[in-house]
Amino acid sequence: MTDKQFNFDTLAIRAGNEQSNFQEHSEAIFLTSSFTFKSAEEAAARFSGEEHAHFYSRVSNPTVAAFEKRLAALEGGESCVATASGMAAIFAVMLGLLKSGDHVVSSRSIFGTSTILFTNYLEKFGVEFDFVDLSDLDAWQQAVKPTTKLFFAETPSNPITEIVDIKALAGIAHAGDALLVIDNVFCTPVLQKPLELGADIVVHSATKYIDGQGRCLGGAIVGDKKLVGETIHGVIRSGGAALSPFNAWVFNNGLETLSLRMKAHCDNALTLARWLDKQDQIEKVYYPGLESHPQHALAKSQQSGFGGMVSFIVKGGKDAAWKIVNNLQMLSITANLGDTKSTITHPATTTHGRLSQQQRDDALIADGLLRLSVGLEDIADIQADLERGFS
Ligand SMILES: *Cc1c(COP(=O)(O)O)cnc(C)c1O
Repeated sequence: MTDKQFNFDTLAIRAGNEQSNFQEHSEAIFLTSSFTFKSAEEAAARFSGEEHAHFYSRVSNPTVAAFEKRLAALEGGESCVATASGMAAIFAVMLGLLKSGDHVVSSRSIFGTSTILFTNYLEKFGVEFDFVDLSDLDAWQQAVKPTTKLFFAETPSNPITEIVDIKALAGIAHAGDALLVIDNVFCTPVLQKPLELGADIVVHSATKYIDGQGRCLGGAIVGDKKLVGETIHGVIRSGGAALSPFNAWVFNNGLETLSLRMKAHCDNALTLARWLDKQDQIEKVYYPGLESHPQHALAKSQQSGFGGMVSFIVKGGKDAAWKIVNNLQMLSITANLGDTKSTITHPATTTHGRLSQQQRDDALIADGLLRLSVGLEDIADIQADLERGFS
């Protein structure tokens, strides 16, 4: 199946399907670490790459390949490499494309662990990072150096849903001979296709919306054949952060309902954001679907929906925020997002707790900030639970 032949919702259900000799209808799980050979000659040909076939699941596996093909079709990329987690995907991109002395410009508003990976580990190997305001294109431009190789951004950002103009950012990156990497976790390809807007590489934590029910860890990288299919795949092959076939099977099924789920997440989130905006205890609501969001128009033009993540600052800082969290009866207190179950997180003491106060201030993580991943429960029940929190 090619992306030219079928539309998105069809590809989400049928791309990458391959039947075994049993002609099963639901895809099989190839839960096997290795594959056998008919002869020594066949083994040698497969290991050398002369003959293309699966031989060891760290390198490739049919169930993982089915997920990779399907996600590549949905993002509109030539190649996809699945990884053991979203962080493994980001790590593999950096390890594959950078060397000592290279420079990266990154948004300052990224997943907390991504910041830690860059500053605590990659800088140890001589890669230099500069962090800029996500939506300030001039700041990106000014941060470019002769050694700049990559731009890294999440849009909308976690947790305060800032947005950058992907097309414009790709223009700046390419003018400086750098590649643009977009973390597309919040939107998924249902709501945003960064490659079509000029990005070179998309990274995913499949743990979130792609799974959709909070079961498995996984990640993926999508882009062209040479960069992703060869260079970055080489990192996973030798570095070992391959995706488990079982998790790939769960994600492949997740992709089949992703479009419907994302639309439902968006509907619930918009209703909730509008309601939160009217509550006295709240200082500020962050949601791209609100007209008051500074990049509302941009979100409308580059996304086909505003997503399921809503963040808000409560009056009274950390104590007030914790009180709300502790008064809830239904919402899950957990850092995961993209689940059918609504979840609430206090970023300053969890996902962004390992950052310094300065890094948190730079990323605009206020002490009173709460992040909601709006699930698919009845919106009236989600609202009633928050009302309990506020009382
Ligand atoms: C969760 C997350 C990651 C990391 O993914 P894991 O699967 O937890 O390793 C990266 N980026 C964003 C935006 C995330 O939400």
